[in-house]
Amino acid sequence: MFFKDIPGNNEVKSRLISTVTKGRIPHAQIFLGKEGAGGLPMALALASYIMCEYKNETDSCGHCNQCNKSHKFIHPDIHFSYPVVKFGDKKRADTTSDDFLPKWREILTETPYMGTTEWLQHIDAENNLPNINVKECNDIMHKLNMMSYESDNKVLIMWLPEYLGAEGNRLLKLIEEPTDNTFIILVAENQDHILQTILSRCQLVKIPVFESKDISQYISVKLDLNSERAEQIANLCEGNINLALSIAKNEAPDYSDMLISWLRVAYKSDPVEINKWISGITDMSKDEQINFFEYGLHFFRQFNFHTLTHNNQVMLTNKELEIAKKMSSIINFEKSIDIIDIINEAAQNISRNINVKIMLFADTLLIGEIIRKK
Ligand SMILES: [Zn+2]
Repeated sequence: MFFKDIPGNNEVKSRLISTVTKGRIPHAQIFLGKEGAGGLPMALALASYIMCEYKNETDSCGHCNQCNKSHKFIHPDIHFSYPVVKFGDKKRADTTSDDFLPKWREILTETPYMGTTEWLQHIDAENNLPNINVKECNDIMHKLNMMSYESDNKVLIMWLPEYLGAEGNRLLKLIEEPTDNTFIILVAENQDHILQTILSRCQLVKIPVFESKDISQYISVKLDLNSERAEQIANLCEGNINLALSIAKNEAPDYSDMLISWLRVAYKSDPVEINKWISGITDMSKDEQINFFEYGLHFFRQFNFHTLTHNNQVMLTNKELEIAKKMSSIINFEKSIDIIDIINEAAQNISRNINVKIMLFADTLLIGEIIRKK
């Protein structure tokens, strides 16, 4: 992984790079960032940079002996640890990350911004709870105490140390008194779930969520989306690239068109038209339905911001902003708040397996009344 493959976050990148060029890489650090913020890609880019023989000021070279392996996640001195479940016929206690290494390399190649859900699906974890077990901790100590193979340095990247139980304390000595040129990078999402003993001994590197514009550019190139659609998705996903990719891959219909037709149908309140609109929604998967209502909430919040401030710097695409401007002659701030309440409740109810058709019919009539109110 190159630093340049990760959108934005230039401040973090240059701080990490300078620890390498100044020879001040912390022996143990925690990259702390929400899901989809790119903590793991950042750790992978740093590991490649540490190993690279011909690094430049901003990135690893990509073609030296070390890069040839580190960029394919097969460098023998870059070790990985991550939560897993029982592997095949093995007992859980005997299973470690290494059993899932081919799967791990696959997902890093495909989508290093993945969340726990994608990882567990990828390894067919079904309902088994993942963790990082005792054998794994012992293996890590063994690996890091051995001589390195091809580089002067050794790196351990542990993804989600939150899954370490009390056995994580076995790693404390390693963190406190690491062998020379050994660098431990823990990539975490939730500070509250990390063993305090470990947290207090690592240097904390906060990974901020991505800016909307960076996500928009990233997904438009990666998934060949038009810029309007990419921007719309980026605005929705609160800095989470993983979420942006999953929404984009769903090939969902244009949510703004759906929302406008909903408001139109509600305004007229013709039962036949309402039912037709509802069947469009119920044809979608539950995830898409939730995404649509989330979109509705996002749109109306931005609409309110625009109505109150007349500020055009809202998180809406040009097309959405035009819609918002036209809409403001019929829907004022108070009406919009009432509509947000209805959409919010709908979004919550959909996850609760209620009858979506009946709920949406009632909601549509309610929204109609709100819009027509003088
Ligand atoms: Zn290189």
